[in-house]
Amino acid sequence: MGHVFHSPEQSLSTDTLRRYLAAEVEPLFSRTYRDRFMPRDVMAGLMQRLSSFGLVSGIVSETHGGLGLDWLGSLMLFEEVAAASVDLSIPVLINSFGAHLLEKVAPPQLRERYLPGLIAGEHFVSIGISEPGAGSNVLEVRTRARRDGDHWVISGEKTWISNGAYSDFLICTCRTSDDPRGGLTHILIDRHEHGYEVQGIDKIALNTQSTAQIFLDEVRVPVANTIGEEGQALRATLALFEKSRAFVAMQSVGLARRALDEAVSYAKERRQHGKVIAGHQLIAAMLAEMATKVDAARLLVHRAAQMFDAGVGAEMEAAMAKYFACEAAVTIARQAVQIHGGNGVTRSYLVEKLAREAIVCPIPEGTTQIQQLIIGRALTGVAAF
Ligand SMILES: Cc1cc2nc3c(=O)[nH]c(=O)nc-3n(C[C@H](O)[C@H](O)[C@H](O)COP(=O)(O)OP(=O)(O)OC[C@H]3O[C@@H](n4cnc5c(N)ncnc54)[C@H](O)[C@@H]3O)c2cc1C
Repeated sequence: MGHVFHSPEQSLSTDTLRRYLAAEVEPLFSRTYRDRFMPRDVMAGLMQRLSSFGLVSGIVSETHGGLGLDWLGSLMLFEEVAAASVDLSIPVLINSFGAHLLEKVAPPQLRERYLPGLIAGEHFVSIGISEPGAGSNVLEVRTRARRDGDHWVISGEKTWISNGAYSDFLICTCRTSDDPRGGLTHILIDRHEHGYEVQGIDKIALNTQSTAQIFLDEVRVPVANTIGEEGQALRATLALFEKSRAFVAMQSVGLARRALDEAVSYAKERRQHGKVIAGHQLIAAMLAEMATKVDAARLLVHRAAQMFDAGVGAEMEAAMAKYFACEAAVTIARQAVQIHGGNGVTRSYLVEKLAREAIVCPIPEGTTQIQQLIIGRALTGVAAF
């Protein structure tokens, strides 16, 4: 894949990462752990290795122990991880944004205690916003933290929490007052010190890493574990979403690129009507549409990344990237199955797995409909939420 934006250094690091992933990581996800849960120690080993390539570590500044890559460079590395495995890209994404929150918003004592383990790939964080009654609308969070002296006492239920089973700590969005927008606060809950119960969720795909429910029953946490100012979690979450949506978009670019590669290989080998199917015009048209959408999606992500790097607000551009890339991945993965014919729906071919994974992508980090609402609001100034 050619990229107009690649500097020689960026090309070198993405090429080196791609070779490592192809040789040592991809087979783990497409064969050994295909649709099977990967134990924490195996996933942690991969995270430690990826840290040396600039995953998670890249998003953190050198001042705080990271590599301080720019957003575009971080996203280009992330595409390689997602093309190897969306399952692997999820812990990378969550640990990256946990690290980002710790660096940007946490008080020094929490940052110094929890950030190094994330950068090194030794620890896992979960970010707990969603609840059974609070999905697209973060304002409906009910998990309650009440003050008891110098402690918070927290009760509630979080759901769909990535890294849940792996997590060493949870950055939990809690309701600390009834003010709808100004009543949400981020509190760090240490699983080993304060405890929380975790229960895995079985999904259509992406079960090699953890998605879980987290139950909090009168958990006592020091007030010193508050991340950012009390009542400011909504603002911090919206700022985080602008960046994290570009990463979720890039997950879909990686997945779609992989589906395209599989379809191209198959179309060049499979013969029907006396020639390889790549020689049939309707197959060529499908491949052309798939390749154009992969590149268009990537360019939307790169544009958002360049705006992040320029310090320009990119809420609409990140929403466009997430909307387009995730929906494109669903179409592209389905077309890849179609090009494989009957083989495409068997577990002997990767496209079956990619199609199941693609269906999941338009849901987290704001569904397709929520991205459309954000874009519409930016265009008209009128919120249709
Ligand atoms: C694999 C996976 C990983 C996840 N990881 C995390 C995580 O780590 N942490 C976390 O906090 N959450 C996580 N989530 C949760 C995710 O953010 C939510 O699933 C998502 O925000 C949608 O919420 P919901 O599932 O409750 O759907 P709902 O909000 O109930 O939406 C249902 C449907 O209604 C539509 N809809 C909702 N509101 C509107 C509206 N105003 N106008 C038009 N349509 C609307 C939606 O688009 C959707 O089609 C994850 C989810 C998945 C699937």
